[in-house]
Amino acid sequence: MILEQRVTVTLEEGLHARPAARLAQLAKSFGARIEIHKGAVAANAKSTVKIMLLTVKEGEDILIRAEGDDAASALAELVSYLSGSHGETKRETAGPASPATAPEPDRASGVAGRIAGLCGSEGVAVGPAFIYMPDHGVPAPQRIAPDAVEAELLRFRTALLDVCRTLDAARDKALNADGSESAEAQVFAAIKELAQDSELVGPIEQRIGARQDAVSSTLDVGLALADRFARIDDAYFRTRADDVRGIARQLADSLQGRRGVDLSDLSEPSIVVAGELSALDLARLPTHLVSGLLTSEGGATSHVAIIARAIGFPAVVGARLATVDLARLRTIALDGTGGYAIANPDRDTEALFRQRRASADDARREIERFAHVEPRTRDGRRIEVAANIGSASEVEVALASGAMGVGLFRTEFMFMRGASLPTEQEQYRTYAKVLGAFSPHPVLIRTLDIGGDKKLPGIETESEANPFLGWRGIRMCLDQPALFDPQLRALLRAAVHGRLRIMFPMISDVSEVIAARARLDACRSALQAEGEETGPIEVGIMIETPAAALCARELAEHVDFFSIGTNDLTQYTMAADRTNARLARLNRVDHPAVLRMIELACEGARAAGIWVGVCGEAAGDACFIPRLLSWGVTELSMSPSLIPRAKKAVVEYGAGSEAA
Ligand code: PEP
Ligand code: MG
Repeated sequence: MILEQRVTVTLEEGLHARPAARLAQLAKSFGARIEIHKGAVAANAKSTVKIMLLTVKEGEDILIRAEGDDAASALAELVSYLSGSHGETKRETAGPASPATAPEPDRASGVAGRIAGLCGSEGVAVGPAFIYMPDHGVPAPQRIAPDAVEAELLRFRTALLDVCRTLDAARDKALNADGSESAEAQVFAAIKELAQDSELVGPIEQRIGARQDAVSSTLDVGLALADRFARIDDAYFRTRADDVRGIARQLADSLQGRRGVDLSDLSEPSIVVAGELSALDLARLPTHLVSGLLTSEGGATSHVAIIARAIGFPAVVGARLATVDLARLRTIALDGTGGYAIANPDRDTEALFRQRRASADDARREIERFAHVEPRTRDGRRIEVAANIGSASEVEVALASGAMGVGLFRTEFMFMRGASLPTEQEQYRTYAKVLGAFSPHPVLIRTLDIGGDKKLPGIETESEANPFLGWRGIRMCLDQPALFDPQLRALLRAAVHGRLRIMFPMISDVSEVIAARARLDACRSALQAEGEETGPIEVGIMIETPAAALCARELAEHVDFFSIGTNDLTQYTMAADRTNARLARLNRVDHPAVLRMIELACEGARAAGIWVGVCGEAAGDACFIPRLLSWGVTELSMSPSLIPRAKKAVVEYGAGSEAA
């Protein structure tokens, strides 16, 4: 039986390493031959490597073809995995300096002893260097005797088993306390899948079968495969080349009876300096002895950086080690945040780094104490401190940072990521997931805010002379029911899963609020007529145009709340494009004109008896928070990492230090 089905991949960020490994595992549990087709290219669904080389992104359509007795159930399982939400962890792209966005390392900086690189993991460390530069030469292939082939194959399989055991042990060590998989554990599981992949093992065994020795067969095949990854036009998939190279080298080491990285010689925590350090190398390290990492290979999305971030030690990757005299390297001062290191720092520099480390630790501990407090001002007002998110995958981080709900879900990011617009059902699933995760806390979802500098694949827009003053946000949505209605319907349906607030962006006139609410009512009636369940929703608007701030009193009559978008409110009040670095002098939220606008919005809310929050960047500015609280703001929404600091500012409000 041959069966086929098309499916749109809704896994967060597509088929990156970990989902690809899971998919291959799933496919392997069926006897059927299963292929994935992307356009004209097909791949064996039982091979993680093949799946990854297809580079399937979130929102892309693929075709699955299954042949065999259990083809129907295989197809159903795979489609459900690819189109469902399985709590997949997002691929790591978001290091503070990802290769796509990071400036090139400061190669030219001629400061003596300074080694420029990229941020792999934030933080500061100083200490002795442990240099790991194993000999990675590729030995010339040896011809083996025909009767030695079986023994050579066995040697290779034993080495593979050895590597897999190391990865299993590393994975077990990295599991969360409740036995669930941490991001780090998933990395090790995915690398084990890669190591066992038929695309790697098959050709190696073929070469051995053709009488080439196991070491050179492994390195030839592994390094060639790594090169294929290195040529992919996507920074994330490119860094998978490191993983494949790491596997090939570990296999070769094991075949040659070489020990892997072994820090048993170390008696104190050290900074590991390596040319290339694979996640597999890290799996062998007693990580409690690693106080930092400095590597010449890798980028912010390499698995080594992911693991460094997960364990929490600073790392500088992509560093210029070629210029360093490693034989004379004794001590390193490492600045992961700044993406550089200093070789053999003098006493003053060493003392400075120790001091920076100590004060960073103190400050972090002090601020983290506030992450899970319920912030009340000294005069007893409870303030909601919530998270700004752009996708469901940010929920965990937001919760861990102490978010009391979501104060701004920028849904346009979800529309912009895929190759096509998400359907009502896809949107419903995402909204329901976020609402469920935060319940009973509220989740504020903003309807599509497209236009300005945000373009949408699948929507033709005429080019405009002034896009920021153009057809954007609610203006576009009201003109396009085919775009707006599925979102409103998805929101109404998702509302049964938690406490939903929705918010319309770019409002500048009362008629827009009336029209948007009318569409929402029409969608609710249609759903009810279809027998669909809908839930209650608080409806609010963003105050981000001067017109809205000036007419706040009138607007407040039509909504349940305001959320002030200080980013746009500043650019429109100051007539200064927020994306133009030259105008930074004018783009100041503390300019008297902007302060006046914010105050007007707060006054309008107070007069109508509705609550007012802030979701622009100013909400997370601990120095600005006292001013907002003094005007009656009761909700602040910001990027999750700022939450503990903001809660501290709230708790301390009223101590007499704040601006009035
Ligand atoms: C704002 O304008 O302040 C805001 C929060 O919206 P965005 O930054 O998404 O335009
Ligand atoms: Mg805005």
